[in-house]
Amino acid sequence: MMKILVSGASGKVGREVVKAIAKESDMKLVGAVDITQVGVDAGVNVGIAPLGVQISKDLKATINDSRPDIAIDFTHPNLAMVNTRIILGSRVHAVIGTTGISEDDLKEIEKLCALNKVNCLVAPNFAIGAVLMMLFSKTAAKYMQNVEIIEMHNDNKADSPSGTAIKTAELILQSEAAKGIVKGKTSEIERIDGARGASLNGIHIHSVRLPGLVAHQEVIFGGLGQTLTIRHDSISRESFMPGVLMAIRKVSNLKGLVYGLEHLLS
Ligand code: NAP
Repeated sequence: MMKILVSGASGKVGREVVKAIAKESDMKLVGAVDITQVGVDAGVNVGIAPLGVQISKDLKATINDSRPDIAIDFTHPNLAMVNTRIILGSRVHAVIGTTGISEDDLKEIEKLCALNKVNCLVAPNFAIGAVLMMLFSKTAAKYMQNVEIIEMHNDNKADSPSGTAIKTAELILQSEAAKGIVKGKTSEIERIDGARGASLNGIHIHSVRLPGLVAHQEVIFGGLGQTLTIRHDSISRESFMPGVLMAIRKVSNLKGLVYGLEHLLS
């Protein structure tokens, strides 16, 4: 039985994680942390039977009290590293879904994993379809070298562009054919600042924020007389759960830091 702690247990994704864990026979929720609904049973909080775990607000104290095998974090970009340091420093394996983790942060996480002899899976997107979208985009980039990314999320999302958009652009740029990628014209005039979106090493990324959206992304390739659009839609936050459960089951057998769910797909 794997003992699990959920950090961000009252959040939109964290609530789904609590419900998903409660349905699994090989997992047991032992800790739930959030600044909202403190003192409330984590099961009752998400409309299921009581789980006997009260939501508490102090991550470190809750880890010390509940001694989980694995802690999952879906909180706020400002907390991503704060919480990751606490989890790994407590010698607990970590599954991090919170966005806002930079390349420098990943280097620090790698060191923390080695120092504390634990593993950490950081995934910008736990939806299997989104992971496939990223892998297909990397493949398409070999053949069509003009590409732009449009990501669309609900208007409460704290950061932009999304971690998925950044990871997609990084994967495209990593591909053998990346040197052929057309990185936008430097002579272009933007009549309004930002009209062409953000640029990650020359790949344009456009962020749309609207109520009603969950998490959506289009990767549009352009070629002579044709376009290819690879699109993924998460229409509910349940879409992340198969990936989260896979990460929980595999994280203790990884070696240190793994960045991206694609490395767990066999
Ligand atoms: P959310 O609904 O705002 O949930 C975050 C939760 O964390 C809220 O309940 C929030 O409480 C709580 N929180 C804030 N500060 C805290 C603190 N100091 N200690 C403990 N809990 C705290 O956001 P969400 O939509 O669930 O997303 C959470 C994160 O996951 C974001 O970074 C988002 O981009 C990311 N995300 C990742 C994936 C993926 O597949 N990797 C998918 C979806 C979202 P308050 O509401 O009171 O602030």
